[in-house]
Amino acid sequence: MFREADIRPQGELVFVDEFEVRINRKNMKTMRMRVAPPDGHVEVNVPYWIDVDDVKRFVHDNRDRIRRKQSQMKDSPQVRAETASEEEKRFWKQLVAASAPVLVERWSPVLGVVPGKLAYRNMRSRWGSCQPGTGRICINTRLALYPSECLEYVVVHELCHLREPGHTRQFWNLVESCLPDYRRAYNLLKR
Ligand SMILES: [Zn+2]
Repeated sequence: MFREADIRPQGELVFVDEFEVRINRKNMKTMRMRVAPPDGHVEVNVPYWIDVDDVKRFVHDNRDRIRRKQSQMKDSPQVRAETASEEEKRFWKQLVAASAPVLVERWSPVLGVVPGKLAYRNMRSRWGSCQPGTGRICINTRLALYPSECLEYVVVHELCHLREPGHTRQFWNLVESCLPDYRRAYNLLKR
C-alpha cells in the first residue's frame, strides 16, 4: 500500500496562508525551509515519508519568520534590480554615468593609466569589465542601488586591470593601495 504522497513528482506546489510553497522530497531526515529569491516563495525540503499536511502546518507555524524574511528580501538591492521598471533602470544609468567619469578622472593619474571609452550596462553577472587592448571600461548600472563606495571600488578595480590584467597578488595590492577599505565594498557586492 502506498499513500498519495509517495507517488507525487518532486516539487509539488501548495499554498499556505499567503505563501506559495514548493515542496521538494529528498532523502533526508528533517524538514528544511527557506525563503527563496527573488520573489520570496517558500521552499521546503522534506523527507519522502512526510505528509503534506505536516508540511503545511510547519509553514503556518513559521509564518512570522517567513514574512520577516520576505520583507527583507524585497528591500535588497538584488531583488530591486530584478524587479525594477524601465524608468528605474534609466535612472540608475543616469546616476552611474554622472559619477563614474569623476572617479575615473580621480584615479587614472594615481594609477598612471589611460582608460579608453566608458560604457554603462545593466548586467546580471558582473560589476564591471575592462578590455585590455582598447582600455574600454564597462560599468554595471545596478551599482546605483549600492553605497557609493561600491561604484568607486569597481572603477578602481577596472582601472587596476589596465596595469595588472589578472587577479594576482599584485593586483589586489594595487587595489588596496588606492582603497584600503575596499573589502567592505567587495563584500557588499559579493553574492
Ligand atoms: Zn577583475
